[in-house]
Amino acid sequence: MPEQKPTLQRPVGVPFSQSTPVATPLMPSVVYVCDTPDALDAQYEGRTHGYTYAREGHPNADVLARRIDAMEGIEGGIVTGSGMAAVTAAVMGLVKAGDHVLGGNQLYGRSLRLLRDDLPRLGVTTSLFDPTDASSLNAMVRPETRLVLVEVVSNPTLRVADMEGIARVCREKGLLLIVDNTFTTPRGYRPFDNGADVVIHSVTKLLAGHSDATLGYVAAKNPDHQTAITQFAVTTGMTASPFDCWLAERGLATFDLRFEKAQANAVTLADHLSSLKGVTKVLYPTRPDHPDHNRAQHLLGGQGCNMVSFEVTGGRAAANALAQAAQGIAHAPTLGDVGTTLSHPAASSHRGLTPEGRADLGISEGFFRISVGVEDAGALCDVFTAAVAAAQEANGGHE
Ligand code: PLP
Repeated sequence: MPEQKPTLQRPVGVPFSQSTPVATPLMPSVVYVCDTPDALDAQYEGRTHGYTYAREGHPNADVLARRIDAMEGIEGGIVTGSGMAAVTAAVMGLVKAGDHVLGGNQLYGRSLRLLRDDLPRLGVTTSLFDPTDASSLNAMVRPETRLVLVEVVSNPTLRVADMEGIARVCREKGLLLIVDNTFTTPRGYRPFDNGADVVIHSVTKLLAGHSDATLGYVAAKNPDHQTAITQFAVTTGMTASPFDCWLAERGLATFDLRFEKAQANAVTLADHLSSLKGVTKVLYPTRPDHPDHNRAQHLLGGQGCNMVSFEVTGGRAAANALAQAAQGIAHAPTLGDVGTTLSHPAASSHRGLTPEGRADLGISEGFFRISVGVEDAGALCDVFTAAVAAAQEANGGHE
């Protein structure tokens, strides 16, 4: 037998191809080989471009970030390992002990916790304001206020923030405006065109769109702010997985189509729900009976996006019956999937509040939020007709 030579595990690299792959290659490598220390110096000093270590950046994150940058009309945003990583990097990258942060009072639950529990622990004071009324923001600004964090459309009551008023206060008082654009997406609203300094997404939701990748995105208008946010994200390891980025990039390819269809379905479903016996309330931003109807028309250009909330009578028993009867609809506390999902805020996102606290927001046991997907609109209406009827039956037939 010829003696077998021991092999060394030197990387072989990617085979050269003059032509470019149509689909972005998945690049899971954690480290990258650099020929010499001089070449590494050149990379770190920005004289050449190259990747070194995946926590600091990798091709799949950059490809995805450039695509979302283009949608938001900005350059240099980064992708993070979740939407909450993006929120945290944006806020933590821009504050110091002694600063004061103002947040909308109906922010996503974990964003509220960051403001309520974590920032004060680190010497940053926080307060909440009513984002539908910019004068409430104005009244709460202090000399040490550094930034404002707001969502355009609130969860789950779908109130539309007074973005013009908020941007005006921020401009007049020299505050940074961070906008979480997850619900509205760049199709519904473009924060950088409307005074935002930083834009955040939970890419997990509509942008990736298939409930199979957990990711975030954060971009800042000012390059110094972007550097501060990026450095914080890299230091604290908020890195996105290459595979998740790859999946999200694939999902993003159909974002426009999914958004159009889901939004059209949402309009149809909202109108249908309002016609059903046993439905006491339907919330959809562009419906004439929505409390922020005029603002939604103006800010979102007549679009209402894909979320619809509604309420049935009958309390928890009716809610259980409704969720069970909604055949083919996932009862799951998320949004933005390609299919329709149903969430019950009292049992999920708002379970930490007292019943009175929920009642103040208009969230009863019969309150549901629908993230409308791309199914056939007629089939969706039929499912919800049956589901609402089941809720009524559980309520003893009372409306
Ligand atoms: N922002 C909003 C508006 C959200 O709805 C969510 C999640 O539901 C997040 C941020 C956090 O995103 P992730 O779950 O990707 O961390």
